[in-house]
Amino acid sequence: MKRRGFLGAAAGAAGALALAGCEAPPRPIEGGFTGIDIARGHAMRDGALKSLSPATVKRTRVLIAGGGVAGLAAARALRLAGIEDFALLELEDTAGGNARGGMVNGIACPLGAHYLPTPGDDAREVQDLLEELGLRRRVAGRWEYDERSLCHSPQERLFFRGEWQEGLLPVHGVGAGTHAQYRKFAQRIDAMQHAAHFAIPTLRAAVTPELLALDAVSFADWLGSEGFGDAQLRWYLDYCCRDDYGAGIEQVSAWAGIHYFASRHGFHAPGDAKGSGAESAPERDGVLTWPEGNGWLTKQLATPLGDRLRTGQVVLRIAELRGGVEVDAWDTASKSLVRWQAERCIVALPVFVAARVVENPPAVLAHAAAHLRNAPWLVANVHLRGPLADRVGAAPSWDNVIYGTRGLGYVDARHQTLDPTPRGTVLSWYRPLGPSGYDTGDGRQLLLERPWTAWRDDLLAELSVPHPDLPSLATCIEVTRYGHAMAIPRPGLLAQIGAQRTAPDAAHRGRVVAGRLSFAHADWSGYSIFEEAFTRGHVAGMALA
Ligand SMILES: Cc1cc2nc3c(=O)[nH]c(=O)nc-3n(C[C@H](O)[C@H](O)[C@H](O)COP(=O)(O)OP(=O)(O)OC[C@H]3O[C@@H](n4cnc5c(N)ncnc54)[C@H](O)[C@@H]3O)c2cc1C
Repeated sequence: MKRRGFLGAAAGAAGALALAGCEAPPRPIEGGFTGIDIARGHAMRDGALKSLSPATVKRTRVLIAGGGVAGLAAARALRLAGIEDFALLELEDTAGGNARGGMVNGIACPLGAHYLPTPGDDAREVQDLLEELGLRRRVAGRWEYDERSLCHSPQERLFFRGEWQEGLLPVHGVGAGTHAQYRKFAQRIDAMQHAAHFAIPTLRAAVTPELLALDAVSFADWLGSEGFGDAQLRWYLDYCCRDDYGAGIEQVSAWAGIHYFASRHGFHAPGDAKGSGAESAPERDGVLTWPEGNGWLTKQLATPLGDRLRTGQVVLRIAELRGGVEVDAWDTASKSLVRWQAERCIVALPVFVAARVVENPPAVLAHAAAHLRNAPWLVANVHLRGPLADRVGAAPSWDNVIYGTRGLGYVDARHQTLDPTPRGTVLSWYRPLGPSGYDTGDGRQLLLERPWTAWRDDLLAELSVPHPDLPSLATCIEVTRYGHAMAIPRPGLLAQIGAQRTAPDAAHRGRVVAGRLSFAHADWSGYSIFEEAFTRGHVAGMALA
């Protein structure tokens, strides 16, 4: 059966496989939406709530709005600087934002972000955090990471042409022309790494003419102009962009496409000296991961805050007044409006939210909101009551990708366990919904309109290709929707929002300040990863000291 035919048969997969007659009808799969309270987010648009009189007035020195990685990092920085009088308001019932963990049938799993690469020296604040958490320490003059949190081998595999292969770069059976393109791309990235500074976090690199030239064109156009037309190479690069930016190579800038490799581990062609040699593609550099994904990190950041972390608080209005800041929040438990008065406010909200709730938004905020576009995302956690029978090829890995599908494959929540007994697990399936060759429609609308069962069927159709037994093992699927998950680094964005990186002294670089408001969120970097969010929160918190 051709792949397309198989996908068609597997859509609504549970029934289709049963009708084939060789298996007992699978049990119904329970499930639904979980994780994000869309109604709370939309409460911000409710003018009636904003016009209520506050039931309570509270005071604090610093108010942090938003409890994602950036807000939590700002709170940690305030504490490090000796400022203990602050409060953090978060809309959801737990902090962490896009980096929260969950539980399906008693098994911890990520609801969003699931890994942190071992940070390079530009990300010194993240290095410090990892030392503080006991994950990084110096042994005999070398930095070592805690083996329990480093992703165990095998890290990743690709289902390509009917079998699993090691690594994510398609290699099995590809021609000499493809290998030549892999080598040429590796050389090009190597040259770029020497020609310009691709830093994580981005605020450590000046916005130079070289970077702006790459920012001006799409990655797809740049690849075309450089003669990179090979289908396998382009699939892989598109996969990487959808994975990190939620949108494809046609949508993101050449700066973003190159930054993905040049800021970290480079690109290694199969068989090159830095890679694992032979035919297979090398694995990524060290990656830190936990069963609940980066939810482990955000929990560590949230715990010391005690009752200064106020969850279930929807910030509706932030106003800078003479001598202070006034913040109104809807308390979802008491269903009343709480007014906070503070000396300063760290706005660790997504830029589109900040632009909505900050009264008379300052020019820097209005400008950023006008230029940022977000990619929606969906994560579905599927519980399996027993181990999957595997196809031939590379062994089950932490990250398992299926060539040519809309989703990005799945990570296995039990991968880090030290218990080798085969048993049930939770697989987290990632589905970016920003524009790409796979999705041209309005992803946010799809998230609002489609029932959870439609996403269940998509998941089963994709994962049944390498795992025909998956529908009969699945007991439960929980779907988390992110309508505005992350900023897409589109062409021109670096030029538009990179200006805050130009402060001549390092201490001020990356600070986005307007009067008594400081802004911190990954959006201000133009794309979203832990290191960007954390450093921006840290810088904003430290600046107040
Ligand atoms: C599906 C998915 C997978 C990802 N995977 C990875 C990964 O593996 N590794 C990685 O490094 N990065 C990953 N990311 C990127 C991730 O976004 C960043 O790592 C980081 O978590 C962003 O943190 P932030 O604080 O900038 O933003 P957010 O997570 O957006 O935090 C903003 C916070 O503000 C709160 N908020 C919003 N409106 C209000 C309001 N009105 N009042 C009060 N609070 C409000 C939100 O609830 C949220 O907690 C992923 C993102 C997604 C969506």
